[in-house]
Parts: sequence; structure tokens; C-alpha cells
Amino acid sequence: MHHLGEHKYPIVLPFVLMLAACGLLELISYTILPNPEAVGVYAIFVLVALIIYCAFRSGLRGGFIAAVMTLVYYGYIIYTHNYTGQQLRTSIETVIYLGVLYFLLAGIIGWLKQRIDTLIDREANEKRRLQSIIQQLPVGVVITDNNGKIEYANKQLEEIMGRPIKREFVVGKDTVLAHHKGKVVGPNQWPLAYTLSTGRSVAGKEYTLQRADGKKIYLNISASPIHSRDGKVIAAASIINDVTQQKLLEERKDDFVNMASHELKTPITSMKLYVELLLKKLKKTDEKTVSIVSSIKNQTERLQKLVNDLLDVSRLQTGKLTFNKERFKLDVLVEEIVDVLQASTKHTILQEKKGSVFVYADRFRIYQVLTNLITNAIKYSPEGKHIRVRIKRTNGNVVVSVQDEGIGIASDQQKKIFHRLYQVVDDTENTFPGFGMGLFISKEIITRHRGKIWVESEKGRGSTFFFSLPIVKE
Ligand code: ADP
Repeated sequence: MHHLGEHKYPIVLPFVLMLAACGLLELISYTILPNPEAVGVYAIFVLVALIIYCAFRSGLRGGFIAAVMTLVYYGYIIYTHNYTGQQLRTSIETVIYLGVLYFLLAGIIGWLKQRIDTLIDREANEKRRLQSIIQQLPVGVVITDNNGKIEYANKQLEEIMGRPIKREFVVGKDTVLAHHKGKVVGPNQWPLAYTLSTGRSVAGKEYTLQRADGKKIYLNISASPIHSRDGKVIAAASIINDVTQQKLLEERKDDFVNMASHELKTPITSMKLYVELLLKKLKKTDEKTVSIVSSIKNQTERLQKLVNDLLDVSRLQTGKLTFNKERFKLDVLVEEIVDVLQASTKHTILQEKKGSVFVYADRFRIYQVLTNLITNAIKYSPEGKHIRVRIKRTNGNVVVSVQDEGIGIASDQQKKIFHRLYQVVDDTENTFPGFGMGLFISKEIITRHRGKIWVESEKGRGSTFFFSLPIVKE
């Protein structure tokens, strides 16, 4: 079988083999055995077997050479036996039949052998091409069988891991410990192991890992199963991207933003206080100056909000955002916020609620979420008149919604607006200033209170933002 896939078709081999076989048969029938005729049937078997072997080893040509030599040998036998008449005719007929059979046999087997060689060769070339592509990829690639045993790993993976990857390595058994979002990832939770056991893909998850040489690295890993035609998982492939440099850069950037916002916070707070003081003193004097100082106050407030948001985002990134939870009436908080915001907008804010609802949450942070949703509703509905704030109870949760009659959000953007620094940009929205931090912070606050936040909207028809929180007993 090991000859399969080889494109070597020696033609000396069938010659030598057939000559030796015929010589041997002659020798056996005339010198060793008393009855030469008895050898005939066995000779047919031996020669057929040799034709098959020659066709298998030396392809079409080899098979044909063996068939021709067998027929010549038969001719030689007829000639040396001096057959005549009916016997001669029968012998010639038999040789012709056998000849057709032998050529057919040699043809089919020889052709099959050559065809299999070509297919095996093509597959091997395909594999080599794939391996060469994988070797040149700038990311680590590993392919395992369905038990997680490594079949192929490129050199980039070895560079990333800082050590050679052994062939006996089994993902899910020998894998090192890693961390994902601060939690330990056991060997069988690695993307490849997860993919193999569930048949599902893992897309771009981030892990941190301590290498054997002590270096901490950040990896972005994807994995997907490889299915057979009948849908069984037969292997899995994983792409491992070393994002340590980007992460370190991001960390330095976050550190800088954190430090800068901390430094800005104090002077801005004092500025705001002084401006408010100035405004109080000015009140009775000239209106023009009052209006200018009021603008300074507004701008200072915007600046203060921006710095606070930056600090919150930075705290969220570093896991330093803490909550001071208490039991309070959510409906009362909503009312307070609506009253404050109503004073500074032309929109009419309508409230709908039934009875009081208690929640256990950080009052200030929930205040922040709702303020953000209502100020967004005001900001993104310049033509709208009403903003509706509703409080509803649904099995164990309270759902607060803020509905506006504004510009709306296209469905493909509705998930993205909760991402960090994401803003919908299109021709109609260039006029809305902002940084895309509010909804990201709101989402983090709500999910860390075991709640949910979502939006229902249609472009041009207004949006309704919802958030839910678990209700606690009165
Ligand atoms: P910012 O308002 O500072 O840009 P947010 O995180 O609060 O940041 O909002 C993110 C994006 O979501 C906004 O830029 C806007 O495109 C979209 N958005 C938020 N609220 C609304 C709303 N009520 N109507 C339409 N679009 C909104």
C-alpha cells in the first residue's frame, strides 16, 4: 500500500518479475513435478496475481507489459507442445479469451493506481499550500484532531507562547491556566476545548496568560470546529493573536486619561462654585453680564460632566467603579429627576407610574443613568414636544422607560450605541455634540445591578430606552 501516491512506474520490474515467474514455472513443470499438465491451472493463478501486482506497482504500462509477457509465455507453451487440429484451435481460443481478460484487468488496475496517485498528490499539494499560508500568517494558528491533540501549529504560535509546541500536546488536558475577564480559565474552558466539546465557535475572546518565562501576555483567541460531511466534529482550528502591545498602549492611554481627569476635576469644581457665587452677586446688576456668566456656568457644567464621565469610564475599565447600595423608592427618584430636568427644557416631560417601587441600588448611579436617558431624549429630539417617562412592574422587576419623539436610531446601530465611545454618525446627526460615553456607563451600571438596558427605535420616529432593576420588598 505504501506505493500509493508515488508517481514512480518502473518498467524493468514487470519484465524481470514475469521472466523469473515463467522460468520458474517451466522449471517446476519439467524437472520437479511428474505431471507437467497439472501445473497449468496454478500457473494461471500465479500469472494473474503477478499481472495485478505489476499493474499496481508500475501503473498501466507495467500491467500491459505483464499481460503481454504472459500471453507470449502461453504462446510458447502451445508451440512447444506441438498441438494440432482441434487442440490447437481450443488452445488459441483460450489464450485469446484470457488475453482480453488480462488486458482488461491490467488496464483497470493500472488506471486506478495512476488515478489514486494523482488524487493523493493533489491533496498533498493542497495541504502543503495551506501549511505554507498558515506559516506566513502573522498570528498563531493551531489545528487539533477531535480529541484536542495537536496536528499542526505554526511557528508564530511558538513565538507567542515562548516555547516549542510538542506534538503530544492535548488541548483541554495539557493547556496552561489563563484568565478571562479576571476569572481563571481551566484547561477545558480554552476556546479550542470548548469548541470541540460543544461544536460551537468562539469569536475573538480575550485572555491573559503568564508565560513560562514569567512574561504576562494578552491574547485574542478565536476557535471553530471542522465538521465532516455528516456534521460530526472531526477537528478544530484556532487563531491566537498576541495583543499585548496594544493592551499595554491602551493601559497607558487609560492611565493618562484617568490621571488627567483627576487633575481636572478639582479646578473645575472650584471654577463652578466661583461662577455660581459670581452669578449670585451679579443678579441685581446688569443683565448682559449675567447672561455671559450664565454661559460660563453652563460650559463649566458640561466640562464637569465630561470629566466625570471620563473618570467613570476609566474606573469601569480598571474595575474600580464601586457602588454604595441602599433601599429606596425608585418612583420618588424618578420624580425628582424629572422635576430638575423639566426646569431646563422646552420639552414637556410626562410621567406615568402606579404606586411606589423599592429597589436596592446605588441611588446616585441610578440617578446618573436616568438623567443620561432623559437628557439624550431631549438632545436627540429637537423637533419633538413630549418625553414620556414610565415605570412598570413585570414579574419581579421594575422597568423604567424614556420615550422621545426624536430622530430615532437605525436597527443596525441599536446594539452598538451601548459600546464605549460609540456615536451614530450620519448626515443628519452632525449637529449633536457628545462623546459616546453616557450609554456605555449606563449599561455597565445597570448590568452590575443585575438589570438590563435596551432600546426600541425606528429611524425618524423616535426612540424608547428601557432599563430594568430587581424589585425588593417594601
Ligand atoms: P453621547 O450622547 O454623548 O454621544 P451616549 O452614549 O449617551 O453618548 O449615546 C451614544 C449615541 O447613541 C449617541 O451619539 C446617539 O447617536 C445615540 N443616541 C442616544 N440616545 C438617543 C436617542 N434618544 N435618540 C437617538 N439617538 C440616540
